[in-house]
Amino acid sequence: MSGTPPHPPRYVLTPAGKKLVTVIPGDGVGPEIVQATRRVLEAAHAPIEWRERRAGAEVFREGLASGVPASTVESIRETRVVLKGPLETPVGFGEKSANVTLRKLFETYANIRPVRELPGVKTPYTGRGIDLVIVRENVEDVYAGIEYRPTPGVAEALKLVTRKGCEKVVRLAFELARAEGRKKVHCATKSNILKFTEGLLKRTFEDVSKEYPDIQAQHIIIDNCAHQLVKAPEQFDVIVTTNMNGDIISDEGSALVGGLGFAPSANLGNDVSIFEAVHGSAPKYAGKNVINPTALLLTAVLLLRHLEEFDIATQVENAVVATLAEGKVATRDVVGDVIAASTSAFADAVIENLGKAPPADWKERRYRAMRLPQVTSAPGMVVARSRRTIGVDVFLESTLSAAALGGSVAPLAAGTPFKLHGISNRGTKVYPPSESMMDQVDHWQCRFLLSDPKAEAEEKALLDLVQRVSAKHRWCATQRLEEIDGEPNFTRPQAED
Ligand code: NAP
Repeated sequence: MSGTPPHPPRYVLTPAGKKLVTVIPGDGVGPEIVQATRRVLEAAHAPIEWRERRAGAEVFREGLASGVPASTVESIRETRVVLKGPLETPVGFGEKSANVTLRKLFETYANIRPVRELPGVKTPYTGRGIDLVIVRENVEDVYAGIEYRPTPGVAEALKLVTRKGCEKVVRLAFELARAEGRKKVHCATKSNILKFTEGLLKRTFEDVSKEYPDIQAQHIIIDNCAHQLVKAPEQFDVIVTTNMNGDIISDEGSALVGGLGFAPSANLGNDVSIFEAVHGSAPKYAGKNVINPTALLLTAVLLLRHLEEFDIATQVENAVVATLAEGKVATRDVVGDVIAASTSAFADAVIENLGKAPPADWKERRYRAMRLPQVTSAPGMVVARSRRTIGVDVFLESTLSAAALGGSVAPLAAGTPFKLHGISNRGTKVYPPSESMMDQVDHWQCRFLLSDPKAEAEEKALLDLVQRVSAKHRWCATQRLEEIDGEPNFTRPQAED
């Protein structure tokens, strides 16, 4: 791809042949599971040099609004790989989650959640052979966190989806499928309703899939995907999806194979990758040495594969699986409080089982290093062949009725190149009057389009129109309306013919 940056190394090797990893013990049960995991990796002779750094609750309480100190950021930049315990945002300190800050700071654009049936972990799906990976876009969508209250009673969030973001995550899903010898990638979207945003992921998927003829590519509507995951999860291999959809179906996925105690994850980026269990800091168990460390141990297996330590990864995975299958040492979430083993006892049992073969029904997968997709770093990734400004949407706050507002706003365009095309309320056309029985609020979208459909709107005329409208009504926002490559860059409201 033109403008593609060079492939950065995925990890840093020390002169002694070790691989650098920043480790953040985190909050609540974090230090216990991180300690258990480090002990297992050390016993497996994983060639890792740890750089321990802080982030989370304590850092917030010290007054740092991001919850992530500069020394931690610096270490992550240097090592490029992180093993992280869960982080809390204490109420009253900091507005933003330190987890989200870390994901965004380092553009870890893909969240990977393997969902695999584990021997010895009884669920209603036991025996069905669930073995899939959910690849969730990790930094865009409504998680861009751009929200407004245009009027006191109305709230909105910007659902931001980009071609660049879609390309990265879709390519990564196909590369992951190849690296793990998987045959099928589903793309799950709500493109039937959200044609531009969710539709962008679908269109990108359709384009990129042509470069991967060895992998079967299929689109699925997200609600059906959620339904199929419960009904027949074994049909899926890899699912790629937008951030919010992925947030929901990946938790659904964890529940299919035993829940939070067993759910690993990786946040992958081209410069930095952050490995963490799905679960949080489980504060009520903090310091009690009772939490299940399996989720973080399986996360460490993902980390080892990222470090290209495939044999050690398989050895640790086999030892975890063998320990679960034996069921002699199990934590309270699996066997209840009475006969439960501690976090550290479970880690000891895994260490004891290092080198053991997994149970016969555990199929060992062959892995190879995943190629991280390189997408251009230039901001303007998509260049249109043609563009033409054809109008403007002016969002207004008003307690007038639709008819009264229309009667007031329409004449304001007199003598300008524009005419009032229509007014919508909550996405439905209400002026000129429609059959809609939708209840209305004080937030209106007034659409002005050029009277001459072949003309091009001038900036001065656009601003003049907005000024005329704002002289009579309180405006909240404006949006330029264009044709891009001959297609409108806006959707039409419901009930518009
Ligand atoms: P949580 O910490 O995941 O815990 C919820 C419940 O899930 C626990 O009480 C426990 O259930 C079960 N659980 C979680 N981890 C387990 C494990 N390893 N083994 C066995 N059971 C486990 O969720 P939360 O209470 O909603 O969140 C607590 C804090 O963590 C919040 O501050 C939140 O913001 C933060 N958080 C951080 C991350 C992250 O760092 N990535 C992710 C999620 C949440 P039972 O009570 O039934 O035993």
